Amino acid sequence: MTEKLYEGKAKILYTTDDPDILLTHFKDDATAFNAQKRGTIVEKGKMNCQITVALFQWLESKGIPTHLIKQSADDKILVKRVKIIPIEVVVRNIAAGSLCRQTGLEEGSKLPFPLVEFYFKNDELGDPLLTRDRLLILELATEEQLKQLQNLALSINQHLQEFFASCQITLVDFKLEFGLDKQGKVLLADEISPDTCRLWDQTEKDPQKRVMDKDRFRRDLGKVETAYQQVQKRVLEQLGSAKKGL
Ligand code: 5GP
Repeated sequence: MTEKLYEGKAKILYTTDDPDILLTHFKDDATAFNAQKRGTIVEKGKMNCQITVALFQWLESKGIPTHLIKQSADDKILVKRVKIIPIEVVVRNIAAGSLCRQTGLEEGSKLPFPLVEFYFKNDELGDPLLTRDRLLILELATEEQLKQLQNLALSINQHLQEFFASCQITLVDFKLEFGLDKQGKVLLADEISPDTCRLWDQTEKDPQKRVMDKDRFRRDLGKVETAYQQVQKRVLEQLGSAKKGL
């Protein structure tokens, strides 16, 4: 029997007949600024589902363990049940968003090394930036798990940067979530999509036109659906040719 386990801003999680397997439904709803801004992006659920599946499969082929089992509908995936670690792991290659607001770094400046940051996944507190010691004091993860998150995040960044570059897309930054399976193994969970990444079109120089991600919605830049469609098209085409080459 299927029952709703949890409804988030962009996804709904259902139980399945198997207690170790959950079903994720990707919604068309879009929110920003801790849900102060709300809207709908037409067909977003399907697009983000397809993009997440393609990227998770790519990462699995590179040895990254993920929660993905398989896609079960255009906007649904079956996933391994995990206990989500309440940390948002953000990786940045180029300065944008809150990094610019908080440090004064100029948008678009290339960082000398990939920056891995940990944020507390807590809507009531507004997802604050954590320090290592705050994270340990709050017991959000152990030191060993923290090391694993850092290493996995950097490795995922390398693989995704390479993949997106082959799609003529610059991976500016992105957010990851991880979970622990029954054995306590850390698995990549949640999604990777234009909702959770900043993606810039390398074929466009204009700083507004090049935006292919949720910033189009956040900053009212228009053509949100077109941007998501473009990402989907390039990612699926690239994955198709990568598979042929294997
Ligand atoms: P920033 O800290 O600059 O707002 O976000 C950095 C990156 O992480 C961006 O790619 C952004 O989309 C992603 N990100 C950070 N927090 C969240 C969140 O709560 N939800 C989503 N969808 N993405 C997030």
